[in-house]
Amino acid sequence: MDKIKRRQTIPVKVGGVTIGGGAPVTVQSMTNTGSGDYGATLDQINRLCEAGADLVRVAVPDRGAADTLGRLAVKSPLPLIADIHFDVKLAFLALDNGASKIRINPGNIGGRDKLTELARKAREYKVPLRIGVNAGSLEKSLFKKHGGATAAALVESALGYLQTMEDIGFGDLVFSLKASDVYTTISAYRLFSKAKAYPLHLGVTGAGPPSTGSIKGAVGIGALLADGIGDTIRVSLTASPSEEIITGRRILQSLGLRAFAPDLISCPTCGRCEVELVPLVTEVEKMLETYDMPVKVAVMGCAVNGPGEAREADIGISAGKKRGILFRQGRVIRTVQQSLLLEALKEELDLLAARRGKLGRGRKGCGDSGNNTCL
Ligand code: SF4
Repeated sequence: MDKIKRRQTIPVKVGGVTIGGGAPVTVQSMTNTGSGDYGATLDQINRLCEAGADLVRVAVPDRGAADTLGRLAVKSPLPLIADIHFDVKLAFLALDNGASKIRINPGNIGGRDKLTELARKAREYKVPLRIGVNAGSLEKSLFKKHGGATAAALVESALGYLQTMEDIGFGDLVFSLKASDVYTTISAYRLFSKAKAYPLHLGVTGAGPPSTGSIKGAVGIGALLADGIGDTIRVSLTASPSEEIITGRRILQSLGLRAFAPDLISCPTCGRCEVELVPLVTEVEKMLETYDMPVKVAVMGCAVNGPGEAREADIGISAGKKRGILFRQGRVIRTVQQSLLLEALKEELDLLAARRGKLGRGRKGCGDSGNNTCL
């Protein structure tokens, strides 16, 4: 199987998790509980950990939220990234209170002097900064020069801030160059990655609800990852943060960059299909949620072409009018009554899970890219 050749970037440490330098691509989300609501935010962080997040970002809009961040940092199973806008003093407080990374939007942090001050303090704590350039808050001068928030404008903005950082010898940096337009986002990251080897946080901003946002995220983030670009991802969705993690992990797994869970292959059906395939696939999908091992499972609509069409599957079933077949890597291993096909598939999966030492019904866990531990 062909593999993606990842672009080499400078590694940065976020708590116990490495971003860049060839480390596994990490998945992150952001809490959306009330800022400063300790109990609700900790619950959500734990749910994100359960869903498989590697990192989590928390908004710090005021002093109360910065104090809460300090309490969360003690209990959180995941490294915390403080999200700061407008007030650089909040970033200082977040550093004092245990943030593992600071994300700033340089367009609203108050100028290059404030950015320099922040970098100096981050260096004392050995904490990286993410410079998150965003099309919505691009400098007016660049907007005018480029005739809009184009990819070239976003890159010029990022390179300008990078120059400020390099002037003081601060290189513990992650960059993002987000726009809500998918192609602008892709182009900006491509351009930046040609110029500099800093690790990149990928995302399409304001992508929308899951029905369309997950597609924008998959296209934008997926195209870049397929080019070997990107070290950590966030799929922005107007949905529960856990859904962002699940979608992000699916994007990584679909490209073979990480393997977390069973991968279901099913045929689109055609005139040869001998059963109602949709309900069968739905049942298999539900069954697979109880396994936490990476395995390719196929559900195909006819015995004639099914095994061959799903040759890459570790285990598969092909439905028939009366009898169905079970196959492994395209080779038929059993024929069974159609009514017993699901049961037979489950037996095979349990056998495989036992062989791999991963019994079914396992819960999902924190991402395996670092030293996280779900509470
Ligand atoms: S597996 Fe059979 S039913 Fe499914 S698309 Fe292929 S030929 Fe059609």
